Amino acid sequence: MLKRPVAATVALTTLAAVGLAVPSSAAPPPGTAGAIGVGDTIWPELGNGGYDVVDQGLDLRFPKGLASYTATTTLTARATQNLSSFDLDLLGPKVTGVQVNGVPAAWKSTPQGELVITPTKAVHKHLRFVVRVDVRNDLPEASEKSVFPPGLTRHDGWVQTINQPSGARRILAVSDHPVQKAPATISVTAPSNLNSIANGKLIGVRKAGTATTRVFREQRMIATELLQIGVGPFTVLHAKGPHGMDLRYAVPTAQRAAIEPQLKSFDTSIRFLEKRLGRFPGNVAGSFVTPMGGELETQGLTLMTADAMTKEGFENNGTDGVVLHEVSHEWFGNSVSPRRWADLWLNEGHAVFYQNQWVAEKYHSPLAESMRHVYEEAGNDLLVNGPIAQPDPSTWKGDSAPLRPYSSAAYQGGALTLYALQQTVGARTFEAIERAWVQRYANSTAGTEDFIALAAKVAHQDLGPLLRSWLYGKTLPAMPGHPDWKPGPA
Ligand SMILES: [Zn+2]
Repeated sequence: MLKRPVAATVALTTLAAVGLAVPSSAAPPPGTAGAIGVGDTIWPELGNGGYDVVDQGLDLRFPKGLASYTATTTLTARATQNLSSFDLDLLGPKVTGVQVNGVPAAWKSTPQGELVITPTKAVHKHLRFVVRVDVRNDLPEASEKSVFPPGLTRHDGWVQTINQPSGARRILAVSDHPVQKAPATISVTAPSNLNSIANGKLIGVRKAGTATTRVFREQRMIATELLQIGVGPFTVLHAKGPHGMDLRYAVPTAQRAAIEPQLKSFDTSIRFLEKRLGRFPGNVAGSFVTPMGGELETQGLTLMTADAMTKEGFENNGTDGVVLHEVSHEWFGNSVSPRRWADLWLNEGHAVFYQNQWVAEKYHSPLAESMRHVYEEAGNDLLVNGPIAQPDPSTWKGDSAPLRPYSSAAYQGGALTLYALQQTVGARTFEAIERAWVQRYANSTAGTEDFIALAAKVAHQDLGPLLRSWLYGKTLPAMPGHPDWKPGPA
C-alpha cells in the first residue's frame, strides 16, 4: 500500500458467542486443538495452526441499499495434525452456521478474533476437509471518504475492500495470514442496478430477480489481505497488455472519460517492471478505481482513488509513480508474500525502490540523489519504530495499531537496504538477485533470511554481515560507495 495517515479507530468485539451442535453425551474426538495462529511475531493470533488452506470459496451477498450483507466461507483444507478442534479468524460478524464436511459443528467465538470449531468427528492428519461458515453483518455508511477502516467500507453507494494487514477476518471467516494463501473463488451478489467485481477472472454471471451474482476465479494463490470485493456504479473496461495479458479496469461510470486516458499507466508500469524482473506473475492485471480509493495492491485489481486518476490528479499527485509502486507489489508482496509481518520491508522496500527508479528515469536524475536525500534527511529517524526487519511493538501506540509495521523503516529503510546491496554487488548482479527472488519464491511466501541466503548464492559472496547490519541494526550503517554520506538527522 501507499503509506498514508490513519484516521480510523477500531472497535473490538467485546462479547464472546457460542453455538452448539454436538450432543452433550458425545465423547470428545481424539486429536489435539490446532494452534490459534501461525506464529507471526507481531500478531500471533493471525492465521491458524493444524492445517493448510487448499482452496477458498468466498460468497458475499449484498441486499438493496448495501447496509448489511451475508457471507459464506467454504474452505478446503488439509490437516497437518489430528485435530480435535481448529480455528478460523473472525472478528465482528455474527455466525449463523458452521459445518465440517457437511455436518453441523460446535463453535465458539472469542473477543480476540478466534472462531473455535469442534467437529463431531476428529479430522485426521493429512486428510482434506471442508469447513463452511455462514455469517451476517451490518455495513454502516462510512462517515468520511478519508477513513481507513480495515475490511469492507461502504460510502455513497459504493463498497470497497482494504484488508491489509488483517481486515478480512472483519468481513467473513478466513485464515487471515499470508502464509495460508490459496486460490479463491469469489462470488458477489448485488442489486442489478450496480456492478460488482473481485480478484480473478469473471467466470459466471447469474441474474435472479433484482440481484445479479458474478463469480470470479483467482487461480493464483491469494492472501486474504489482498482480497478486493467491490460494488458500485462502475463500468469495466478491457484491454490487452504485454504478451496479450488481460488488463481490466473498473472505473466510476460518471468519471470514465476523465480517467480512461491515464489507465495506460498500468500497461507502462508492467512493461517497465518486466524489463527488470521478468514476466508479470499472473495473467490478469488492472485496477478498481473508486471515489474512496486508498491505493492498495489488491491482487490483480489495484485499488486507486478516482480523483488521483484524472489528468489533473496525475499531474498534481505524481500518480504514475504511485501506480508503478502498486504494480510492483504484484511481484513483491502478492506473488512473493511475506512469511511474517516483520518481513514487510520485502514488500514496501522493493515497491519504494522501483518507484524511485521510475521517478529517477522520468526526470533524468540519478537514483543516488533520492537515496542520499532519504539517508541524510530522515536517516536514523527512520528507525524509531525498530530495525527495518524487526519492528518493535513497544513503540506502537494509539489508533494506528492495525497498521503498526507500516513504518518508514519498512518503506524508506527497506529501499535504502536494497540500494546498499546494489552498491555492493553492482547493478547487473543486483538485477540477477531480484530476478532470482521473484522466480524462486513466485506464488509462495518467503522471509528476510531467505532473501539474505538467495542474494549470497546469486552474488557468490557472503552478504550476511552487510544485509544484517542494515536489517537488524538500531542505526543506519555507512552507505557502500558513498563514504561522504552522513546519516541524519544532524
Ligand atoms: Zn506499498
